[in-house]
Amino acid sequence: MEAAAGGAFATQAKENEIVVAFRPFLLVDYAQSTSSLHQTGRAHRDMSLLNDLDSLDDEQIAAVANRPRQMVIRRIARRYRAANFSRKVLEAYGHRCAFCRVQLGLLDAAHIVPVSASGSTDEVTNGVALCKLHHFAYDSNLVAFDRRYRIRVSESRVGELAEAELDGGIRGFRDALAPTLVLPANVRYHPNPAYVQTALRVRGWRP
Ligand SMILES: [Zn+2]
Repeated sequence: MEAAAGGAFATQAKENEIVVAFRPFLLVDYAQSTSSLHQTGRAHRDMSLLNDLDSLDDEQIAAVANRPRQMVIRRIARRYRAANFSRKVLEAYGHRCAFCRVQLGLLDAAHIVPVSASGSTDEVTNGVALCKLHHFAYDSNLVAFDRRYRIRVSESRVGELAEAELDGGIRGFRDALAPTLVLPANVRYHPNPAYVQTALRVRGWRP
């Protein structure tokens, strides 16, 4: 149980049973998976991979021979990484939007290189804290930032919206944006320029 409080998941073999402890956000995954987790005598060895989710890599997961158990472990690892990414990014940015400084509990942790693109990671330097409005605006390519962290509105997108008479509020939208990203105090959490560059390319950015 202590191991689960420190990590997210912990297993321990006792005489005739395996004791499992995990954080609440993994409960659903676990409940859906108990039969595949417990099926064979090798279950404990495979499941012990979950004791150190921080260092568990895709290679180790792929090496789990039992297919259903491999899928369960992969799903739990993914869920854990996503929750961890979000927590670390929001902490790094002081729960403040990097585009407009808003807090108000309206924050998301956005990936710079989108999760769907190859080369995306859950490193804090591939993340940026954005309020709901700016997360959506970023993902719909209305606004982006370059390697020098300058925030840019897409004039081509604004043009399209104006054409469709859907550009209401554009002045207020521009005014709310900081000229450059409101960055974490700790330099090592600043966005990695290589990720920023990749993101502009895969997002098909046209300034
Ligand atoms: Zn914002």
